[in-house]
Amino acid sequence: MSEEQVRPATAGSEAGWGSARVTIACQRCGRAHYVVRDHPPQRCPFCMQGPLQEQQAGAPPAAPEMVLPLSVTPARMRAALAEWTRGLWLRPPDMTAEMLCARAQPVFIPTWLVDARVQGRWRAEIGFDYQAVSFEERYGEGQGWRSRERLETRVRWEPRLGRFERRYENVSVPALDDQRALPAAWQQYDPSRALAATAEVLAGAAVLVPTLAPATAPDPGEGAAPSAWPEAERLLRRAAEADCLRASGGQHIRAFALQARYSDLHWTLLLLPAWVSWYSEGGRVWPVFINGQTGAVSGARCASASAARTVGIVIGVLGLALVLAGMLLAIIGLVVPPVAVVGTVLALVGVAVLILAFLPPLWARAHNRRVLGELPLPLGED
Ligand SMILES: [Zn+2]
Repeated sequence: MSEEQVRPATAGSEAGWGSARVTIACQRCGRAHYVVRDHPPQRCPFCMQGPLQEQQAGAPPAAPEMVLPLSVTPARMRAALAEWTRGLWLRPPDMTAEMLCARAQPVFIPTWLVDARVQGRWRAEIGFDYQAVSFEERYGEGQGWRSRERLETRVRWEPRLGRFERRYENVSVPALDDQRALPAAWQQYDPSRALAATAEVLAGAAVLVPTLAPATAPDPGEGAAPSAWPEAERLLRRAAEADCLRASGGQHIRAFALQARYSDLHWTLLLLPAWVSWYSEGGRVWPVFINGQTGAVSGARCASASAARTVGIVIGVLGLALVLAGMLLAIIGLVVPPVAVVGTVLALVGVAVLILAFLPPLWARAHNRRVLGELPLPLGED
């Protein structure tokens, strides 16, 4: 991510934030957060790594108008984290629901709500379902040819056009240029429960700085933050398309074209609640993401390489003991021949157990490589 993208996106004042805040940028993941000046986080509130650097330049982000409060209780979070950690073989020692709960920090994710009046002309092809009867001819042994009636649904397409005028309210538009790359747990929110933002609700939480600014032009000009408008326009067109389909009484729509004029635009910054926690494995920390409204959890579930090694060593020592015991019995077998057979079998079992000792470390490595591959960059890179 370039320096351009991590700069605060919109002008505003510190009013509404409750306490003096500063913008910090993570040197590793490139994300910028707006945090309380007196209590800056020790770790990056997104990748949990850092290092963090205070950004002097740029205006603070616009004060939020709406916020979805953190509504997940500690008990519900603990239960969700316990479910998330369950069933992982060779779990890292500090990947427990209790420790993850204790380390969780609140973070708010910005999103824009857009109100707009859309006026213009539209044209499209509207599809109407109808039932058609067809006949299927079948040949049966001893029955001859038989005709069977079949009812099937077909679509009749008709060109339609018209005038369009509608006002849309609270269309949710991403405020981050890579909103879709956010962790899965942070993707689903119900913004209808939003309240007016207050300093109490935001308390000491970090807030991801928007990277897309409200504007009506796709390119707001040299030096300005990228615009949230292209996505807003796409979503408004999609809403208009659905409305035109509904008004036409059809079931399908294609080749939709809208010559639109957008007016009365109003942008509201809404903050979505989240928690981020971490565990350590393989000499680094791994973030765990929790949805502050639904309690959904996502993140990389790494296996512990050291636990895998310990299990491997225990199995290896057992195998070695079996091999040595087998060899001892084989030597005794020189005097008492039947014992040699038992000794050989024991030694062979020991060799098989020794081979098994390599499995836990190999499994942990393959598992962690797969987990890493599924992570979005830059969390996945080492
Ligand atoms: Zn980071």
